[in-house]
Amino acid sequence: MIVMKFGGSSVAGAEKIRRVAAIVKSRAAKNPVIVASAFRGVTDELLALAKDALKGDASRIALLRKTHEQAAAELGVDFKPLSPLFDELTELVHGIGLLKELTPRTRDRLAGFGERFSTRLIAAAFTKEGIPARQVDADAAGLLTDDRFESAAPLPEAEAALKKYFSTIKELPVVTGFIGRTKTGEATTLGRNGSDFSATIIGAALGAEEVQIWSDTDGIMTADPRLVPKALPIAALSFDEACELAYYGGKVLHPHTLVPAMRKNIPVRVLNTFKPDHPGTEIVPNAQKGAAAVKSIAFKRHQAIVTVSSPRMLAGPGFLARIFSAFAKNDVDVDMIATSEVSVSATTSGAKDLEQLKADLSGEFEVGVAKDKAVICVVGDGIQATPGVAGDVFSALKGARVNVFMISQGASKNNIAFVVENDAVQRAVEALHARFFSA
Ligand code: ASP
Ligand code: MG
Repeated sequence: MIVMKFGGSSVAGAEKIRRVAAIVKSRAAKNPVIVASAFRGVTDELLALAKDALKGDASRIALLRKTHEQAAAELGVDFKPLSPLFDELTELVHGIGLLKELTPRTRDRLAGFGERFSTRLIAAAFTKEGIPARQVDADAAGLLTDDRFESAAPLPEAEAALKKYFSTIKELPVVTGFIGRTKTGEATTLGRNGSDFSATIIGAALGAEEVQIWSDTDGIMTADPRLVPKALPIAALSFDEACELAYYGGKVLHPHTLVPAMRKNIPVRVLNTFKPDHPGTEIVPNAQKGAAAVKSIAFKRHQAIVTVSSPRMLAGPGFLARIFSAFAKNDVDVDMIATSEVSVSATTSGAKDLEQLKADLSGEFEVGVAKDKAVICVVGDGIQATPGVAGDVFSALKGARVNVFMISQGASKNNIAFVVENDAVQRAVEALHARFFSA
C-alpha cells in the first residue's frame, strides 16, 4: 500500500478536490490511504479565531462555516456531517471567551477542526466520484501522542493501534493530517505543516511501500523559487539531505516528516498535484552516486545569536555544561554553535523570549543577543568529500557583499551553515544558487 498526503493548496476548492480524486483513482491499484490537510487558509483562520475568542469575538465561525458550506455545495455533497463539529467549535470558542484564557492545549483543540472539516467533505466527494471512501479522524484511529501541545510527537504504542484500526477498514480511508490525541484523550497537533508528519507516521505503522506528499511544486527545489525564480526541482535526495532541508527550509516538509520513514526505510516522494506526471523529488535511504556535491540551499530567517563569554572559560571544564543547562532549563533550542576559548555563540529562533536565560547566565558570564539574523545552509551529501565547496560558498558571498557572523561545518557531513543578516538572505541565496546551479 501507499500513503498519499494532499496539502491545503491541493484541496482548495471543489475543482481541485475532483482533480485529487482523479489522481487517487489512477493509483487505486496501490491501495492508497489518503491523508489530507485543512482547506487552504483554514488553520490560520482558526488560530485567528482563537485570539478573537479571548475578546469574546466569534465572528470568524460564520466565515469558516460559509467556506465549508460553499465547498459542500460545489462538490454536491452534504454539509450536515459538519454541523455537530461547528456546534462543538462554537461551544469551545464561547468557553475561551468566558474563561479569558487560551492555553496551548485549547489552541490545539481549536486548530485541529480544519482537518476534521476537510476530510469529511473530501471523503464524501470521493465517494460521489466513484471511489467509496471513509472519513477517519487520526486521533480516534490510534495516532497517540505525547502532550507537547502544538508540536506533539507520536508515542510508540501509536504504531500497533493504527495498524489494528486500519486493518478493519474496507473503503478508501481519508484521514485527518495534523492531529492526534494524548493517552488521556486530549487533542494535540503535530505542529504547523504537521500533515506531512502524519503521513509518514501512518505509512510507517502500515508498512507502506511509499509515502507521497502531494503539493503545488514540482518537488523539493534547489532554492526557494520566491527568491530564485530559476530554482530547479531536485530529482533525488538522500534521507539525510532531505532531513537537513526540512529542518532549515521548513516550508516543503514538516521537519520531523522523515523520521518515521527513515526508521522503516520507506521512500518518500514529493509530487505536484497540478502536474501529476512530473516525477517530483524522490527521497531515498542513500545518496545517489555521481550526483552534484551541493543539492540545495535553504535558509531560516528571524534567528538570534546568543553569545556567552567569560574569561574564566580559560579555566577549563564544566563551563559549557553550565551554559547549555541554562539553555535547556529555559527551553531554548539551539541550531548552530561556535566556540572560542572564551566564548560560545549559539543560534536560536528570534521569536524566543531570552530574558530569563540572560538573567540565569549573567551571574557568571557576559551575555549578548544579536537579533534579525538568518541561518543559510548549503546541503549535499557530497560536500565533505568535494574539495573547494567552502571556498566556493564564501567567495560567492564575498562577491555579493554579504557579511558572515558565524560558520559551522562538519557537525553533519552534508552541510555548510552560516549566519548572515536577515536583509542579506536574498542576495546571498541568489549568489550561491548562481555559483552552484547555473549551467
Ligand atoms: N493544516 C495544518 C497547517 O496549516 C497542517 C498542514 O497543513 O499540514 O499547519
Ligand atoms: Mg506543507
